[in-house]
Amino acid sequence: MSMIAAFQEVYRGFMSLLTGMRITLGQFLKPNITVQYPRQTLPMPARFRGHIELTLDPETGKSLCTACKLCERACPSECIAVDGAKLEGQKTKSVTEYLLNFTTCSLCGACIEACPFDAIQFSKVYNVVSLSRDDFSRMDMVKQLAERRQVWAQTQPPPAAGTAAAPAIVPQPQDPKTP
Ligand code: SF4
Ligand code: SF4
Repeated sequence: MSMIAAFQEVYRGFMSLLTGMRITLGQFLKPNITVQYPRQTLPMPARFRGHIELTLDPETGKSLCTACKLCERACPSECIAVDGAKLEGQKTKSVTEYLLNFTTCSLCGACIEACPFDAIQFSKVYNVVSLSRDDFSRMDMVKQLAERRQVWAQTQPPPAAGTAAAPAIVPQPQDPKTP
């Protein structure tokens, strides 16, 4: 190797080092974007697909589902089981049971598209955990809606005098944990 070639190689190495240092310094001075999970979490983007869930009507805190079973029939993986009943004084059915087998759900969205009432949606839940696979084979969406309804109820003004309070929600057992 001639002396000139050796100097050129040293020069190229030095410039490469400077480039690396410039990029490192640029990143070092930028604001920290890491999140201290699980103490901190990020909101999921609008198009994120967590498991499906019953939509909570923001006006009433109830489900919009009429147990018509269209989603159950639309699901290619047969992972939805819906049941409903006509409650006293109601013209349409209300959902009484909505079970999801999340172990076979492909998150295809066919059920959501089939629903004429926008009564189901993709949740933003990304961290469902359990030690048992069985917890995901029968996810109770009615129970989950009841839990969300309790949170929703805390954001509502107290009922006016003479207005009937919303019925109490009694969560059922057997659902995966969400930390
Ligand atoms: S997202 Fe697809 S696979 Fe999952 S429950 Fe709905 S229709 Fe079935
Ligand atoms: S979620 Fe929609 S499609 Fe499925 S049973 Fe309820 S109303 Fe019918």
